[in-house]
Amino acid sequence: MSFFSQTILTWYSHHRRNLPWRNTTDPYRIWISEIILQQTRVSQGYDYFLRFMERFPDVQTLAEAPEDEVMRLWQGLGYYSRARNLHTAAKSICEKQSATGHHVINDLAKSEGGKMVSQNSEEEVESLFPKSFEEVRALKGVGDYTAAAICSFAYNMPCAVVDGNVYRVLARYFGVHEPIDTTRGKKLFAALAQDQLDRSCPADYNQAIMDFGALVCTPLSPSCISCSLAESCEALRSHQVEILPVKEKKLVPKTRYFHYLWIKTGDNTFIHKRIERDIWQNLYELPVVESDHQLTPPELLNAIRSHIAEGEEAHLTLIQQGVKHVLTHRIIMTDFYQLILLGGTRSFATYQQVKIGQLADYAFPRLITNFIEHLPVDV
Ligand code: SF4
Repeated sequence: MSFFSQTILTWYSHHRRNLPWRNTTDPYRIWISEIILQQTRVSQGYDYFLRFMERFPDVQTLAEAPEDEVMRLWQGLGYYSRARNLHTAAKSICEKQSATGHHVINDLAKSEGGKMVSQNSEEEVESLFPKSFEEVRALKGVGDYTAAAICSFAYNMPCAVVDGNVYRVLARYFGVHEPIDTTRGKKLFAALAQDQLDRSCPADYNQAIMDFGALVCTPLSPSCISCSLAESCEALRSHQVEILPVKEKKLVPKTRYFHYLWIKTGDNTFIHKRIERDIWQNLYELPVVESDHQLTPPELLNAIRSHIAEGEEAHLTLIQQGVKHVLTHRIIMTDFYQLILLGGTRSFATYQQVKIGQLADYAFPRLITNFIEHLPVDV
């Protein structure tokens, strides 16, 4: 074992975090936790994981749940394609098992996490979750990193994980200047990670290096003074800690302008489901007009003209302006308007009318939830 791996493992033995998805080899729990933790901090994902496991304790329950419910449980976590993919993958796991005759729903067996357990004897009879790296990697929403994490944590397979923390620790310790976002760089880091992997304990080693990156070798102000790798760290020796790891492409986020309409007719308001392949797919939102610039009220009225029934009058009142919502590749600049319709209720006929008191039953992006929660009482 290399000095690097040995040191990381020793550090981990003293700083291991007690998290609900650790100390388990259940691939289902590990899968859910890994998907939640993509793009999400542990502190934010913790409660979501517990709620998700309580409602969907096994792959079968998740597969059988309505998609709206899965989305509602994910509400506020962002990157909603993760929830959609989890649901699709759970269904495909159960369908495959059913097709191969291994899956006996509600009859002979019940599922416990990713495992099928006999109801009578509690004897484990079958595991629903795929067992090879290739099968795990083929699940919707599972990339190389997640497949390696599941296979090493659940099955102790010698697969090195390479996430942002691992890139940073390796780039700095070994002084690697190859960009981490190029095909060549990814290959090089994958090989280096695999090379350092302690094959006698892949699960511990992978968790150790990721935690080390999250807690010691952090993006800003790493703890070099107390770091047990400091004496042989190349970046520290050559004063390059701040510039490693290197990225080739700089992301320039695109700004989009959303204009939402709060329309109240009696106890109801209008919503619709975003079904396009875009941000927030399958979440609900208020009627919206998107443009490449902020619209003035007359421009907005003009843009919604086709939704207003003949003979009805429409008046706009600004409720909130310039609300900024930042996503990874986009900035959403939002104005919220109240639209008052006079003379009937035939406008916006293609939208869904729902009771305002029942809005909590629908999964909305956080931007909309915040708006609804802080809506002035007089609108
Ligand atoms: S010395 Fe600093 S840069 Fe090097 S591995 Fe430790 S924390 Fe990271």
